[in-house]
Amino acid sequence: MLRCASLTKTYRSGDRKLTVLNDITFTIEPGGFAAIVGPSGSGKTTLLGLLAGLDRPTAGTVHLDGAELGALDEDARARLRGEKIGFVFQSFQLIPTLTARENVQVPLELRGESAAERAAELLARVGLRDRGDHYPAQLSGGEQQRVALARAFSTRPKVLFADEPTGNLDARTGAGIIDLMVELNRDFGTTLVLVTHDVDLAARARRTIRLADGRVVADSAG
Ligand code: ADP
Ligand code: MG
Repeated sequence: MLRCASLTKTYRSGDRKLTVLNDITFTIEPGGFAAIVGPSGSGKTTLLGLLAGLDRPTAGTVHLDGAELGALDEDARARLRGEKIGFVFQSFQLIPTLTARENVQVPLELRGESAAERAAELLARVGLRDRGDHYPAQLSGGEQQRVALARAFSTRPKVLFADEPTGNLDARTGAGIIDLMVELNRDFGTTLVLVTHDVDLAARARRTIRLADGRVVADSAG
């Protein structure tokens, strides 16, 4: 489902080169659940951006559901993201002027799909059946992240990327979000790639890939 080979990312600052990711290679099977862990600054967010086609590598390749991202132009990559990828961020990133239901509907409406029924179904699925008319500011952090999960799953993505999705939540609420991700992974077969620095949460994934200084230093899948 997701394969990266010899991925390298370097940034230039003045006349110095900063290698943020160095020769990263792994494959995640369809329906897999992998956690990417490592200290702050180890390259986790950069790696997620490359895997999701938001950013381009300096060297190496990413294949997502059979397509090589580097062979696609900007428009084609954007289309692929809309069709196949969901995102969840640490900071929820809901649209503040839209209700919970409207936030979940946005990705579907962008694709020209009627969205009301699916939005209601997903809000119920994340335990927010009665909160659809509430605005993000009227919801707790954990509730906002559940809306963000419902939104990310609305288009039935093949791969869901989550970057520190529990980073702004207390431990118990964060664990609830991971429970929900595990359930959605199981029920919908969505491939999950979770970035977290929380080792307890990472242990919920079926596989852990550990980064340090831009390299894979451990991978529970070998
Ligand atoms: P993590 O998510 O593991 O904390 P990041 O992927 O955000 O790590 O960052 C890895 C390293 O890359 C850090 O040293 C960061 O400062 C550097 N970095 C990230 N983005 C850029 C950029 N656009 N330009 C220069 N350096 C960057
Ligand atoms: Mg990060």
